[in-house]
Amino acid sequence: MSKRAKARQGATGQEVEAFLKTYKAYLLKHELKFTNQRKVIISEFLRAGGHLSAEDLFRIVKKKEPSVGLASVYRTINSLVEAELAVERRFLDRTSVYELHEPGRHHDHLICLRCRKIFEFENDAIEDQQKKVAESLGFTLKDHKLELYGWCQRVNCPNL
Ligand SMILES: [Zn+2]
Ligand SMILES: [Zn+2]
Repeated sequence: MSKRAKARQGATGQEVEAFLKTYKAYLLKHELKFTNQRKVIISEFLRAGGHLSAEDLFRIVKKKEPSVGLASVYRTINSLVEAELAVERRFLDRTSVYELHEPGRHHDHLICLRCRKIFEFENDAIEDQQKKVAESLGFTLKDHKLELYGWCQRVNCPNL
């Protein structure tokens, strides 16, 4: 059983390659250009790993490419969501954060109420139980999200 409970690291080379292939196909279909700005935004998104807001990404990108505006970051992120390469999530009352869409893979989240850091986990036993509950109610399960809220380390949150 996998027990991943850390923020995701950046994508691997293979993932990046597959990602770019899909994205280029999407751009072509929508008659959009793979501009240098888009390239920088996307490579920083991939490098950073999960759960970034548009503003987070904008701050990172700005250091590399000062000419990139927030609107371009929004547009690029929206295109990634449309191309099903990224998913939008909303935790607590926060603004949307984005993470890579990984087909065939699923994880859930732990959210620290103090520092708001987001952790990921996978737990096969929980997944099985959820399916059983759904089945027992005659429900065909298509998707779910599980969010656990608490303190990331007792009350002494180290991320503050
Ligand atoms: Zn915390
Ligand atoms: Zn996640």
